[in-house]
Amino acid sequence: MNIRSHNGLFFEFTAHFLALAAVFAALTVIFSAPSIGQTRDRTARLADSEAGAVRTPPLVIVDPGHGGADGGAVAPDGTCEKDINLATAETLSALFTSYGYECVMTREDDTMPSDGSSASKKLSDLRARVKMTDGRDCVFISVHQNKFPQAECSGTQVYYSGNDARSARLAEKIRSVCAGYLQPGNVRQTKRAGSEIYVLDRCRCPAVLVECGFLSNPAELEKLKTEEYRKKLAAVIFASFTEYEAEEEEKYEEQNGLRLQ
Ligand SMILES: [Zn+2]
Repeated sequence: MNIRSHNGLFFEFTAHFLALAAVFAALTVIFSAPSIGQTRDRTARLADSEAGAVRTPPLVIVDPGHGGADGGAVAPDGTCEKDINLATAETLSALFTSYGYECVMTREDDTMPSDGSSASKKLSDLRARVKMTDGRDCVFISVHQNKFPQAECSGTQVYYSGNDARSARLAEKIRSVCAGYLQPGNVRQTKRAGSEIYVLDRCRCPAVLVECGFLSNPAELEKLKTEEYRKKLAAVIFASFTEYEAEEEEKYEEQNGLRLQ
């Protein structure tokens, strides 16, 4: 997809998505931000200039953590992390697809991916997820839920891969949009992942892992179990990504002499 069609969809999404997320009124601030108008204007001028060069947005790989025999964290009421992850990832993936991004998921049902090797089931699963990024211009977004012995812990926590500087930028967007519009008072900072988070340690592309909330916090668990709240989480991640992408697009234009003043 070229810049023109991408931004056409991007602009269109502003109106559609606001209607979809009427419950999430705070997002109107994001979607009506000047940067969007500027992006469209810049695109129109680019077209006029017949600059020729186009930038293809990256493939988005949405990774619902765990699955199948690996349920992930389990809430006191028996809710499995894998199910919240998949439901959230499905909403997120649908948003990306609806608005013109190429998007795939690492699993689409309650199964453990496998790379076909003789490694342990868990390692084979994680390798298969990372393998989907091999040789691709992509961004990897992993969706998980947290759990902690202290029930009062709550709020989204974003981790990023240290292998590509863009990971930290995307993570920071998600953190700030989430704290600004969905979870006022969430002061958790982004964290660089070490080898304990296999997928972020091994992905070479921009990669983040979003621990959406704590299954061990009764109030947050109840929210995470609702489609309405999961839509808000997906909206936060999606809106953050579009802001990140707009900046990447600007950088690309600068690097390629396409910025028009
Ligand atoms: Zn997890």
